[in-house]
Amino acid sequence: MNYDKKCQLLIIGDSTVGKTSILTRYTTREFNQNYLATVGLDFFKKDEVFNGETIRIKIWDTAGQERYKALTQGYFRNAEGIMIVFDVSNLDTFENLKYWIESIKTHINIEKDHIPTIIIGNKVDIFEREVAKEDGEKFAKEQNFEYFETSAKSGKGVDECIQFLVRKVLKNQKREESDLDSIKIEEEEAKNNKKGKKKDKCCNKD
Ligand code: GDP
Ligand code: MG
Repeated sequence: MNYDKKCQLLIIGDSTVGKTSILTRYTTREFNQNYLATVGLDFFKKDEVFNGETIRIKIWDTAGQERYKALTQGYFRNAEGIMIVFDVSNLDTFENLKYWIESIKTHINIEKDHIPTIIIGNKVDIFEREVAKEDGEKFAKEQNFEYFETSAKSGKGVDECIQFLVRKVLKNQKREESDLDSIKIEEEEAKNNKKGKKKDKCCNKD
């Protein structure tokens, strides 16, 4: 299938928070109750239409190495948007968000490179929460990130948060394109000016 643009995202967070389940739900509409630690899939892919353009969305998933906190520079390469996930029924995974944010920041400059980042509280179908929605929202706000809640099990919120992130990335791509365009125009103008000056010189001589 053909596509107009590409969008590359990555997902990060403690092991068992539901990262693989969120991506499986998004791409196949399915949910697996069993722990999928060794799916061995590096990335998930889905084509979706935004504003009449087909976008190839590629989302990198950790293949279990997050358990050893062993994510490499390569994992972060070319990421245009980031999802950081915790499990609302497990306080530890919420407290570890700080670690994951630090870890991302050692590899990429989120602010300077305008990498849109969202925080996702997953497993909201579980009645006994250890993290209230307000606490998730407050933390995300402090970090300057958007906050979403999902259930990979029921599907609630999954499409919305990924589509939000893709839209942000597409906006960035557009801005970069127009920045490039204006640089090209400036270069063109500078060249023309130079030519003009040369001409002036030559003509003055004559
Ligand atoms: P990962 O290690 O972050 O990739 O987590 P997985 O996607 O492998 O999920 C870990 C476990 O949590 C699996 O048993 C899933 O079935 C379960 N799980 C994932 N998402 C949800 C959810 O939204 N609700 C519930 N109740 N369980 C979930
Ligand atoms: Mg996984």
